[in-house]
Amino acid sequence: MHAIAIESQRLVWREHEAPGPVGAGEVRIEVAWAGVNRADLMQRAGKYPPPPGAPDIPGLEVSGTIVEVGPRVERFRRGDAVCALLAGGGYAEQVVVDEAQVLPIPANLGLREAAALPEVFATAWLNLYMEGAAQTGQRILLHAAASGVGTAAIQLCRAFGNPCFVTAGSQEKLDACSRLGADAGWNRHDGSFVEAVKAWGGADMILDPVGGDYVEQDLAVLNADGRLVLIGLMGGMDAKLDLGRMLMKRQRVIGSTLRSRSPKAKGAILDALHAQVWPKLASGEIKPLIAESWPIQEADSALQHLDDNANIGKVLLRVSA
Ligand code: NAP
Repeated sequence: MHAIAIESQRLVWREHEAPGPVGAGEVRIEVAWAGVNRADLMQRAGKYPPPPGAPDIPGLEVSGTIVEVGPRVERFRRGDAVCALLAGGGYAEQVVVDEAQVLPIPANLGLREAAALPEVFATAWLNLYMEGAAQTGQRILLHAAASGVGTAAIQLCRAFGNPCFVTAGSQEKLDACSRLGADAGWNRHDGSFVEAVKAWGGADMILDPVGGDYVEQDLAVLNADGRLVLIGLMGGMDAKLDLGRMLMKRQRVIGSTLRSRSPKAKGAILDALHAQVWPKLASGEIKPLIAESWPIQEADSALQHLDDNANIGKVLLRVSA
């Protein structure tokens, strides 16, 4: 098969040994589309090695067709159209993955849309409703809200009854967030978001992929018993904590990653998505927001689009569709 190799921090489409053999509980998927994620940028730069056992090919999610089924696979057959959440290896013509990490594509969506779902909806669901335990009506602050993860999170907030305040880097992005259901927003280039979020009523939960100097501001707007879920460090690794306020307000800070979780843990997140979110995707209440797509041979251009902070929603790679 062909797959992407990282050579001198460039993505090169070349011959590669096919993954496998297909073990018990695993399926082989012929990939139609692969989703692009911020993590792929770090992996290309040599700053995010894949977890132990994962292929060194980048790519955290795909859609495609099952072409081989291993022993004791219960939920899928050859020919099923599916999408999958991966620990790596998605920028390739084939992947082999535990069936726990695979979902059928939602009714009324095609393979292109399905490739935009697994990573960002799993991340948003996991961190809003499992780690962050958001309850109906609780107010949520979402940073980098026009990102792939952010555009999924806004729609989950709207669908599950959580008013959300967003931050993003331009008026165009804030307008897109508002069309998806955000209540209010703040352009991060206009300075601190603290007064604007306080005026909105503060936040009961915060989904923060920025870290750095956002953390101190987050804790200043986090209400009593609030949860700050940190999912990225785009703004840096050093943060100041107001421990007095943390203690008195009973605030919790939770660090969370998806990629390194076991197939079983990923499966539990996907089961929840299948039950709670797939019906809303099928009805059109929630829609994947796709910014743009490139052929896999031009993966570097797709990653450049992310690196330029130019995307609103997901960027995809066409593999064999
Ligand atoms: P994406 O689509 O590439 O969007 C990222 C956006 O973040 C950029 O477009 C930019 O938008 C904003 N941004 C960039 N640098 C920033 C900074 N220094 N401060 C504030 N905002 C900044 O990203 P994605 O793939 O959806 O991922 C979003 C974030 O979630 C990433 O940090 C990623 O690593 C993280 N993530 C974590 C997990 C996990 O399990 N922990 C899983 C998936 C993703 P603006 O123009 O609006 O600033």
